[in-house]
Amino acid sequence: MGCAPSIHVSQSGVIYCRDSDESNSPHQTTTISQGTAATLHGLFVKTDAAETIPSALTFQSRHSRNNSSSCRGDRREGGGVGGAHVRIEAETQTSHTGVKVSATEQCVGPMRLTQEPIQVLLVFAKEDSQSDAFWWACDRAGFRCNIARTPESAVECFLDKHHEIVVIDGRHSCYFEAEAACRLIRATKPSENTVILAVVPQKPADQDEPSVLPLLCAGFNRRFVESSSVSACCNELIQMEHGEVRCQFKLRAYNSVFMALEHCQEAVEITSEDHIIQYVNPAFERMMGYHKGELIGKELTELPKSDKNRADLLDAINTCINKGKEWQGIYYARKKSGDSLQQHVRITPVLGQGGKIRHFVAIKRPHVDNNNQVHKFNKEERCSGEHSQSECHSLRHRDRRKDSVDARSISSRGSDASSLQNRRFSSVARIHSMTIEAPITKVINIINAAQESSPVPVAEALDRVLEILRTAELYSPQLASKDDDPHANDLVGGLMNDGLRRLSGNEYVFCKNMSQLAVPVTLIDVPPPIAEMLNDEECWEFNILELEAATHKRPLTYLGLKVFASFGVCAFLNCSDATLRSWLQLIEASYHSSNSYHNSTHAADVLHATAHFLRKDSVKNSLDRLDEVAALIAATVHDVDHPGRTNSFLCNAGSELAILYNDTAVLESHHAALAFQLTVRDSKSNIFKNTDRNQFRILRQAIIDMVLATEMTRHFEHVSKFVNSINKPMVAVEETSTSSVNSDSEANIRNSPENRLLIKRMLIKCADVANPCRPLELCIEWAGRISEEYFAQTDEEKSQGLPVVMPVFDRNTCSVPKSQISFIDYFITDMFDAWDAFASLPGLMEHLSENYQYWKGLDEMKCKSLRPPTPS
Ligand code: AMP
Ligand code: ZN
Repeated sequence: MGCAPSIHVSQSGVIYCRDSDESNSPHQTTTISQGTAATLHGLFVKTDAAETIPSALTFQSRHSRNNSSSCRGDRREGGGVGGAHVRIEAETQTSHTGVKVSATEQCVGPMRLTQEPIQVLLVFAKEDSQSDAFWWACDRAGFRCNIARTPESAVECFLDKHHEIVVIDGRHSCYFEAEAACRLIRATKPSENTVILAVVPQKPADQDEPSVLPLLCAGFNRRFVESSSVSACCNELIQMEHGEVRCQFKLRAYNSVFMALEHCQEAVEITSEDHIIQYVNPAFERMMGYHKGELIGKELTELPKSDKNRADLLDAINTCINKGKEWQGIYYARKKSGDSLQQHVRITPVLGQGGKIRHFVAIKRPHVDNNNQVHKFNKEERCSGEHSQSECHSLRHRDRRKDSVDARSISSRGSDASSLQNRRFSSVARIHSMTIEAPITKVINIINAAQESSPVPVAEALDRVLEILRTAELYSPQLASKDDDPHANDLVGGLMNDGLRRLSGNEYVFCKNMSQLAVPVTLIDVPPPIAEMLNDEECWEFNILELEAATHKRPLTYLGLKVFASFGVCAFLNCSDATLRSWLQLIEASYHSSNSYHNSTHAADVLHATAHFLRKDSVKNSLDRLDEVAALIAATVHDVDHPGRTNSFLCNAGSELAILYNDTAVLESHHAALAFQLTVRDSKSNIFKNTDRNQFRILRQAIIDMVLATEMTRHFEHVSKFVNSINKPMVAVEETSTSSVNSDSEANIRNSPENRLLIKRMLIKCADVANPCRPLELCIEWAGRISEEYFAQTDEEKSQGLPVVMPVFDRNTCSVPKSQISFIDYFITDMFDAWDAFASLPGLMEHLSENYQYWKGLDEMKCKSLRPPTPS
């Protein structure tokens, strides 16, 4: 709205008039010969004007009327022809109306705005008493004024100044059509908030009043019946200023409010009083996975709800907000993907016309359920009315205090509490819906958030801190004790502890039944039924149990030959098919066929899953050939010589292996060590014999790392690292980048050596426990086999007087469905969600959900003492 005396040549039109505060008349022009242009007292005149330049008489008369008007603005010009006018103007504008032209203040809600003096554009082809009246009316009202002679020059002038009011002469269609001129201005973006007035001719008393509709349709806001009374024009302008112009000025301010909403990190949703969605911001779209087009106009009740909320929570919220009170608390929302997302929600009713609730504003951010904080929050759910504002504040302070304590406890430097509160606040907004949350994850998120508002050197330093935190061993989550779930407790205790429940004295006699080394099968001619069966090997639904039967419990060798050939392992290792055959036979023979679960069929199953995952695009694009070969070898050997007992058992029993490996990752260390011992023992089966030293070292390192990753004590560490270093950065890239930048950034994430390590670990971990994601029939068989192995352990623990590591796995009392439900809930769901997000495994996830339902159904039926369903 600047009123700089920028006088410039009009490209298109006739006359381009300067601001009224810097010239004393729209008519201070003089006759100029055709084809020339001149500036006179700051007024530009283009000589192809349709009309001759107005007479000095008009000019003079106006000045005589203006004798005592107040002067506003700088009067810089002087001298020459214009100097006299300036002086006159200064005199005449001194006190004519007493209107002081200055910026005025307006309030929009809590926003305070400064409104600059109003600018008016007069579009009059021809000067007459009407245009003069508006000119002086502007002067009297303290508005700035320009005049344009043609619609084209009007648009040009308008685009330069963005006038609040445009007055278009609609009395003489011989010069231009007022409606067409109005449309021309309306076609420009800045005219959105401009008020346009049509000056229409006075109709004789006997003629009917013409309809205003054509004018409104053309874009006019108002109509003014011609009157050359300056007072009438002034009144009209002042009414406009107090009415439409002020409204438009306030409306314009909302652009900044929406800009803030569009860019803020919290999800914002605005609904009508009857809960129809009117607005969601991009953060909301990102958080919930919907596009705004899918939401706006929908009733909230139409959207799927999460079933994780307390049954009465929605009613409680509605009761609260419909009474005009604010509600805040924790709520599970259902994302478009169907996932539940725990959110901290604040819903505020907004009163409007008639003091009634006209909107509800919901502000949401992901809530992290750390250390069962949900329960605390649920207790702190608040419905606060006017009286409870302070209560609401105190709640906020309480939250912050709690968070700052958390933050301080993890900050060795004891940083300023309030800045930590702020960091925490925005970090929560960044955290994903994954429930895997170790304290270190919280720290990483706080640092991530702090980086956003930090100067570059600090942000870079924090990058290095994050790097260290992501790779150091700080990930063990705090496992909430599950008093109500003995199956989960036993599984956690049994699988995730090793040396902790140690009992000395009862030495476990490690069974090395080498007599199981059956006569090697001749593989040159694979029997046709087996070869045919192996044709389906690439399919996830491949039936490993059929292969087990067809191969007389030698599925690992046969499947290994097929899979290793398809990945070109022999070529990579530069070894012969015969060496590979011999190696596979040796490894397979070193599995205990007497174990119901940890036998070579389990190894073959894990190898099958590993190959399946390696064929997924995102995995293929992340790993190199050495990684693939290492993964296939690791899968093959990962449980070799498994005694069918858990680490806890071996530690409790003080077994040789537990002593050898200091009660730490006993079995996994043994599997890896033995695999290499067996392999290099005899050149006939040494698949590494032609691998150069350097490559062997890298391969060996990768294989050992993967086998050790199958140890369950570090399950949550591996999953957490994967989620934080791969899933979340990938999602962030998807959310923020364009597609070309996207693929580059994604490649950077997945191809870094640290992240490739995490991908390989996750790959073998998922392959190792993929049995709940297999077709139901296979899943049931595996559940039976692992249960049987656990039962056998419990039997032995009892008979040997050892501590019973997993008492629920007692063959007389155990509920297999319950144990499977707990295993899936505790170990499988989050891990496969993360792996699926990376590798895209919809088929597996469907089996998982179907199998889970099966166990649930079975459990419910058992509870009701009904007969179980038979799998189809
Ligand atoms: P691994 O011993 O390498 O096979 O590690 C996987 C762990 O998950 C083992 O401790 C298994 O006993 C356990 N596990 C695998 N599948 C199941 C299942 N369906 N139910 C309970 N535990 C399982
Ligand atoms: Zn295993």
